[in-house]
Order: sequence, then C-alpha cells, then structure tokens
Amino acid sequence: MDWIVDAPEKKVVVMTGAGISAESGIQTFRGANGLWENHRIEEVASPIAFRRDPVMVWNFYLQRRKQALSCKPNPGHLAVAELEKWITAAGGDFLLVTQNVDGLHTRAGSKHVIEMHGSLMMTRCIACGQVFPDERTEMALPPRHNCTEKGLLRPHIVWFGESLFPGDMERIESAIEKCDIFIVIGTSGVVYPAAGLVNFANSLGKRTVCVNKEAPANVELFDIFIQGEAGKELPKRLFPRENKGGNGK
Ligand SMILES: [Zn+2]
Repeated sequence: MDWIVDAPEKKVVVMTGAGISAESGIQTFRGANGLWENHRIEEVASPIAFRRDPVMVWNFYLQRRKQALSCKPNPGHLAVAELEKWITAAGGDFLLVTQNVDGLHTRAGSKHVIEMHGSLMMTRCIACGQVFPDERTEMALPPRHNCTEKGLLRPHIVWFGESLFPGDMERIESAIEKCDIFIVIGTSGVVYPAAGLVNFANSLGKRTVCVNKEAPANVELFDIFIQGEAGKELPKRLFPRENKGGNGK
C-alpha cells in the first residue's frame, strides 16, 4: 500500500522531532564540540542556569528565536498541516505532538498542536504564570512582566530537570488511545518520550509508522518504516491525493 493514512482512518496522531525541522535549515544549537559559547547545554537550559544568569540564558534563546524566524516551514510541515485539514474536514480527530520548539508547524498552518517541549515563540512569567506569544528579538534583558508582581519573564521551554507542562502527557496518551494510527516523523523513536509513546501505541494494537532519514535501532517497533526526508516522502505518501480538498497543491 502506498498511503500512510487510509481513507477510513480518521483518527490520527502525528509526532515530530528534530529531523523535520532540519530540512528547513534549523541548526542544532550545539556546535561541533557540543557547546554553546563554551557552555554545556545543561548550563544554559536549566532552571538553575536561569536563576544564576538570566541574561545569558535569554541571549541563548533570543539567538535561537532569531534563527527559527529566519527559517521557513518545508513541504514536510505543510503536508502535516494539510493532513490535519483533510482529517478535520472528514469529521475525524487529529493531534500533532512535536518535540520541536521552533514554531514551524504553527507557521505551516497546523492548529491542533501540542508543543511538548515548549516554544521559542512563547514567554512565561515566573511570578503570575501567564504564557503569551512573543516573537521579539530585541529586548531589554532580563525582561519583566507588566503584571502587579513585575515577574521575571522566562522562555516557555521545558528545561533539563523540568517536567512536561501539566496535562500534556495525559492529552497525548488519551489521543493515542483513541487513534487508528500513530505516525512518528523525523525522530528515531528510540529516545524518551517518543520511545515510550510508540510502545504505548503498540500495546494498544495501534498501527505505527516511522518516517525518518535513517532506520532507528528499534525499527521493528513500527508496522511501517519509510526511509527518507519528510519533505520529500510526506507530500506524496501521507494520504490519498484524490481525497484531498480542492485547493491542495
Ligand atoms: Zn506576571
């Protein structure tokens, strides 16, 4: 069968990782030596680092935000957004879970998205907890919220040593319980949390698909493995072309 998603299957969960964004030119924040400006990543992406040096942490995230804003969604992101439109129009359920923080899925038009590790385009007040969209690339550091507490603002990112946002894992597992098919794109599926979710989907007898440049070590976990770049494979294989909406291209 050519199609990843069959016409009768209208309950789909897609999970994406760094591989789909790499095709847009999103750089890994680690240099060749695994460091960012001589800091180990754990020294800039943790609550302790933020307490110690919020200016340094903000500079790191502003640099990543600028870089993400300079990249564009690629055909892989667009195909995932188009799949959602198709499923939604057919009365089905769709959820996109992404490990990426670059905001490219949202810019591609995806609506029902859980950014499980947060977003470079969102900021949170550590005093009142408010989360809001924030695409500023120039700001006085460290920024403060205009709430009564004048709380320090931090990137809305899940840092080392932090849990996922409350409720996210429950929503993801609930969607997998109800889905017909679980598609993992651009991540090997061997690293937590992707690996745990693939096992969970398998334990429920769901069909599982992996789309990745390289076969993961545990390729046998998946019912279908499609080797290749998401931007090339998804537009032609994600769902039957004849069932697409009229304005697809
Ligand atoms: Zn506040």
